[in-house]
Amino acid sequence: MKIRTVPELIAVKRSGRALSDAEIHSLIEGFTAGEVADYQMSALAMAIFLNGMSPKETTALTLAMRDSGSVVKLDGPKGRFVDKHSTGGVGDKVSIALAPIVAACGVRVPMVSGRGLGHTGGTLDKLEAIPGFSVEMSVESFVRQVDELGCALIGQTGEIAPADKRLYALRDVTATVESIPLITASILSKKLAEGIDGLVLDVKVGRGAFMKNLDDARALARSIVRVGRLAKKKVSAVLTTMESPLGRTVGNALETREAIELLHDRAPADLKEITFVLGAEMLRLAGVGKTESQARAKMQATLDDGSARAKFAAIIAAQGGDAGVVEDPSRLPSTKTRVRVKATKAGYVHGIDALEVGLTGVSMGAGRTRADQDVDPAVGIVLDKVRGDRVAEGDTVATLHVHGRKGAKALAARIAAAYEIKRSRPKVQPLVLDVIRR
Ligand code: URA
Repeated sequence: MKIRTVPELIAVKRSGRALSDAEIHSLIEGFTAGEVADYQMSALAMAIFLNGMSPKETTALTLAMRDSGSVVKLDGPKGRFVDKHSTGGVGDKVSIALAPIVAACGVRVPMVSGRGLGHTGGTLDKLEAIPGFSVEMSVESFVRQVDELGCALIGQTGEIAPADKRLYALRDVTATVESIPLITASILSKKLAEGIDGLVLDVKVGRGAFMKNLDDARALARSIVRVGRLAKKKVSAVLTTMESPLGRTVGNALETREAIELLHDRAPADLKEITFVLGAEMLRLAGVGKTESQARAKMQATLDDGSARAKFAAIIAAQGGDAGVVEDPSRLPSTKTRVRVKATKAGYVHGIDALEVGLTGVSMGAGRTRADQDVDPAVGIVLDKVRGDRVAEGDTVATLHVHGRKGAKALAARIAAAYEIKRSRPKVQPLVLDVIRR
């Protein structure tokens, strides 16, 4: 076999030809060892972005990135380790309630989540709004906690898929995020390294998501399901709408509070429905609850008997946080100032532009504009009126949680403009757009 240099391998991809499995492995090994420079990897990422990769190449890239660190070996019943991952949305606090609900149903949930990316929020930032909560843990402690509690909620460690951590940082600043093979390898490499048996992927579709239309979302879902199967894992993808924010809150502590409300069964209907659809799929992959209605009944029982709340409290306590927030969410950080956003006209709310709400949240400090920034856990937006609600001109449609009134007028105007208000009543739109299992 001809051994090619790194520039030659980049040129292969630049010309749209395929790299062999061995070539992909040697590139990722070299990158992890520091022998392939960041600028070379960035050039390769752009060539992949522009010319794509075959399923075979995408699988090789995923497995090479998985093997760049340790692959966790979880202790416990085979087939029962299932995780969920979202491609990212606005107001998406599903994981925070879903993980304890599913764990309370007897499924093991070893969850490695991410931080906010662009205008989308991240589970880790939301969990860190809980005073004391730590998302950092060694692989050894992660394995122990999943064994003892059935769930751990952590961030990517240096040990899990380090090639993804570094490549992701490069992609974020070289306009190479929205590439189906690169997203597939990024998500699956870290998920496969967690030691899971199954994965349910929530592929968000719409203006507040990275996949703006159904065709792109289906292509991403099919790519991940196919590569997951080649890696001998059970993977399914649920395509869900992300035109308007999910639920009624955007911002870290506000979203954690809403997830806790779901554990008390007091959450908005859309948030509960998406959580139950994804949870039923996780239970199906784990072989718990044969039909969707059985799975839903099992999950509802964990809300009714308090076992999902108890599970979340135990996870928080094990990870150093204030478990009292589960019964008393007022212990979460909050701001003193509230600014009302008024409807600019009368009618029905047809939608709230999720991208605009997400970007406004970032500009308030709920997200980052530079990788080294801290997020502000307390700030955010409460959506008092949502799709389908009737409003009169001047009614409060949303409330900003801010630290002072400086700049609040412009923020309020931006949120007011994100509301689409029309005379007619909107039609009911499906939350779930497709489910891909093969
Ligand atoms: N989430 C990830 O983990 N990786 C991507 O590339 C995109 C979303």
